[in-house]
Amino acid sequence: MADFLKTPIEYLKGVGPERAKTLQSELGIFRYEDLLNHFPFRYVDRSKYYKINQMIDSSAEVQIIGKISNIQEIGQARGKRLVAKLEDETGQMELVWFKYTKWLKETIEKSVGVPMVIYGKPSEFNGRFNIVHPEMETVENHQSVPVGLYPVYSSTELMQKKGISNRVMQKLQMQLLSEIQLMEETLSESIINQYKFLPRKKTFQAIHFPQNPEDLKKAESRLKFEEFFFLQLGLLIKKLSHKSKFRSHEFTSVGNQFNTFYENHLPFELTGAQKRVIKEIRSDLGKPVQMNRLLQGDVGSGKTMVALLSMLIATDNGYQSALMAPTEILAQQHYNSIKEYLADMDVEVALLTGSTRIKERRIIFEKLNSGELKILIGTHALLEDNVVFNNLGLTIIDEQHRFGVAQRAKFWKKNNLPPHILVMTATPIPRTLAMSLYGDLDVSVIDELPSGRKPIQTVHRKDTHRLAVFKFIKDEIAKGRQVYVVYPLIEGSEKLDYKDLMDGYESISRSFPLPDYAVSIVHGKMKPVDKEYEMQRFIKGETQILVATTVIEVGVNVPNASVMVIESAERFGLSQLHQLRGRVGRGAEQSYCILMTADGLNETAHKRIQTMCNTNDGFEIAEVDMQLRGPGDMMGTQQSGDLNFKLANLAKDQKVLTAARHSAEELLNADVQLNLPENAPIRNHFLKYHQDKIAWSRIG
Ligand code: ADP
Ligand code: MG
Repeated sequence: MADFLKTPIEYLKGVGPERAKTLQSELGIFRYEDLLNHFPFRYVDRSKYYKINQMIDSSAEVQIIGKISNIQEIGQARGKRLVAKLEDETGQMELVWFKYTKWLKETIEKSVGVPMVIYGKPSEFNGRFNIVHPEMETVENHQSVPVGLYPVYSSTELMQKKGISNRVMQKLQMQLLSEIQLMEETLSESIINQYKFLPRKKTFQAIHFPQNPEDLKKAESRLKFEEFFFLQLGLLIKKLSHKSKFRSHEFTSVGNQFNTFYENHLPFELTGAQKRVIKEIRSDLGKPVQMNRLLQGDVGSGKTMVALLSMLIATDNGYQSALMAPTEILAQQHYNSIKEYLADMDVEVALLTGSTRIKERRIIFEKLNSGELKILIGTHALLEDNVVFNNLGLTIIDEQHRFGVAQRAKFWKKNNLPPHILVMTATPIPRTLAMSLYGDLDVSVIDELPSGRKPIQTVHRKDTHRLAVFKFIKDEIAKGRQVYVVYPLIEGSEKLDYKDLMDGYESISRSFPLPDYAVSIVHGKMKPVDKEYEMQRFIKGETQILVATTVIEVGVNVPNASVMVIESAERFGLSQLHQLRGRVGRGAEQSYCILMTADGLNETAHKRIQTMCNTNDGFEIAEVDMQLRGPGDMMGTQQSGDLNFKLANLAKDQKVLTAARHSAEELLNADVQLNLPENAPIRNHFLKYHQDKIAWSRIG
């Protein structure tokens, strides 16, 4: 039976080689199963018919039964059109075609006087209603479609041209469904019973030709579940196979370095969440199996300290660690923090980025080779082939979603046994996204900020209130604080954006003149040395205001800065706004975030600004962000491919995802090889359609 669904599409009655070509090129439909999985993108309620005198001008499509009484070609050349009169017992209206073939004209001529079902969007023109390019068929034909919701399939111009109308698509689907005798199950009976799913054949029947909305809902819920379920099953199998395949270094002892630091040099009491996470990591590192862990924590939750403590465990066991960040500034910042944390300890740390001088590089490579260097911090420069460790035991990747997932793997080759891997995200991501993108990793969450922090106060100000904002900044500076002013830099409009930045810088320099005030500027067009110099002036407190583009977005840590002004805030995404805001509120002082915008925001921009003013909770903000943008856009194009579901939606179907994950876990717990007869359908389907078979063969 499964082989039946693999039949090339041209053999389906009503297709043939010509249409097959079109279906392949336009919709990627090569086989029966592809057609079956080409779902309608919407449905029309077929039980409702309109009378001509009930027409109103609206965006909704209508269905009318009537007879065509008259047909003529009007106009010349490009203005030429075909106009037909449609009548029912309540009145008359016009049907109009601007593009039509001879064949269509003849078909319409033939249908004069025959009861027809007309479908389309009515509009009013000169006081009369018409429908442009309606769909039409005889009442007789129309009755051959099962009653209920009328499926509408996506289409292209070429398909229209080749005569594959929506009606044809319906017929093909109906033909296929009628030929399918029996469909192999893909789920176990216990799962089907647990969720009261329709049988598989009925599911496909109902997704294409639902009798009613409830029917459709049932079909959708099963198909969404299956999408999530098989993805989760694949991820969980990958995770299990990692654990059985990839042996790694066993860090048996927590020794001298860790303990000395912990007891004597820890600059603050760890939060409960930090302690819990360290414990989770320690437990992973103590096993001879590669750690693959994701660390999620809000901006300012103290991920760096967790990273450092983990690296000290590696050091204690005679291993080196690498910490990779996505930008130079961030790598530098990590290096500075960790150097400072380790000031009174005897642990060698170095920084390697694209701009590290050759001479210094040579020294680093030597010490790395000899094992003298314990911790290497850097950018993707760390991935280069000439970076050779003596004994790399732990790799920490910060701000993962800027790196491709593939880069995780590059580190594996840097030792004979792959190092343990800890991935840290810049900002929280919603649980459903984490589950789908990182479902093969273990997850730790820091869900608590260090105590004593005052929540940042966020306000929205219009550009017209700039003077009041400047006054506020002056008052804060008078108290000894420092201020960030950030400008957007959006790809495609850089030229204008740089102009805005420079204009802004000038205006601020004028309003905050020397010698009372000093202003730094940092942006992406500057040389790294100049950037670093300006940053340092601000970090040391020599300047009070830092004007910047988003280069300061990640990681920068100046606890004395208490005001973040974000210019044109409506142009930033939510997670970016939250990242930027996280640059303040790092000291003991009350901090502020001022979102400057123009007047007249659109709805989503308004919602973003409002969300920022209402909450400081990164997990909550991430959730809203996903609802507004959709998961694909939120994560950037790099990973959106993994988030392409046919029906399921990570933002809307969270419950389904949770259930699917849970079911997949339960299944593997009970029957990791899926050897039980009752799980055979799942096993067969998985092996046929998922590429993770290889991973599976590894599970012992
Ligand atoms: P993020 O999670 O955003 O990377 P960081 O590691 O940069 O956060 O920490 C933010 C700030 O909080 C730093 O100044 C750090 O020294 C401080 N910090 C971290 N943990 C604690 C703690 N438990 N108590 C007080 N301050 C802390
Ligand atoms: Mg950080």
